[in-house]
Amino acid sequence: MAECPKCQTPCEPDDRFCSQCGEHLAAPEFSEKEGRTQKALSLSDVHYNLGMVYFKKGEYHKALEYWEKGMRQDPGNEFLQRCIADLKEKMKSG
Ligand SMILES: [Zn+2]
Repeated sequence: MAECPKCQTPCEPDDRFCSQCGEHLAAPEFSEKEGRTQKALSLSDVHYNLGMVYFKKGEYHKALEYWEKGMRQDPGNEFLQRCIADLKEKMKSG
């Protein structure tokens, strides 16, 4: 489960903005990564979004597939790494 870096309000992993303070949640890790091409950035983002579509439908294996694709596009993406870790936990507990 994600947390707002500013006010520590628990947020859904797919929330882009904090419902409490409006902080942009996904942005810091993406924007602070220098030396990454814009292409790699947007590709991992696309895969993240696709995975999230399946995640919401409860199709966790599909979601994992897309997020792992995203990881291959952007291997240092800790945000995506956390999403995958959470998802795997979810899949284990059913
Ligand atoms: Zn907040």
